Amino acid sequence: MKKFLNIAIDGPAGAGKSTIAKAVAKELGILYLDTGAMYRALALKAIREGIDPNDRDRVIPLLERTEIFAKNIDGVQHTYLDEEDVSGLIRTNEISKGASDISAIPAVRIKLAQYQRDIAHASDVVMDGREIGSYVIPECEHKFYVTASVDERARRRLKELRERGQDMNKSVEEMAAEIAQRDHNDSTREFAPLKRVPDAILVDTTDLTIEEAVAAVMNGISREER
Ligand code: C5P
Repeated sequence: MKKFLNIAIDGPAGAGKSTIAKAVAKELGILYLDTGAMYRALALKAIREGIDPNDRDRVIPLLERTEIFAKNIDGVQHTYLDEEDVSGLIRTNEISKGASDISAIPAVRIKLAQYQRDIAHASDVVMDGREIGSYVIPECEHKFYVTASVDERARRRLKELRERGQDMNKSVEEMAAEIAQRDHNDSTREFAPLKRVPDAILVDTTDLTIEEAVAAVMNGISREER
């Protein structure tokens, strides 16, 4: 089997993973896959149908009649829920919470991880997520764990939401509490939780600029492979 360049970027919400992963993919001229968008798309479908994303008995049949896939159009990921491009609808705080809940259901992870694995086995790709290096493609040679303090992540997430006109009145403290709750959900779920594997290079972005964080990842990838 041909070996492709696979780069796994895991870490908690708001640490800068997607910004870094996108920049690294661009620099290397390879595909970028935002795996969180797929969990978000499924959460959107559940919420639209009035299904609680925590309700396993109702989410599993929903999953069976759902197709989620990602398409790269001019270097930008578009996420499809069945035939609909939902990329513009999945960035709200309600969907963040729903995605965190729905992703704790093992059947959901098994299906989405298989799709992600198939992509990694067929192309050079940078993937960002929670358990890419520990569960989706554990054989991957380039693993990074990107993190930052909870307060810094809350400030960044709030800025991002406000730029889209959302959560204008939420305080940094409230956002930090939500992020801490999501970290807790993501790292304590029984199946494929968020965790730093020993072979992942740690990149703490609390005091780094985006350029410095991207450089830290690029330095971890040997020159011959670029
Ligand atoms: O990365 P993003 O914030 O878009 O992910 C939304 C949620 O989806 C996360 O809080 C996490 O619970 C879940 N997720 C996951 N595994 C991934 C990517 C995201 O469980 N690989």
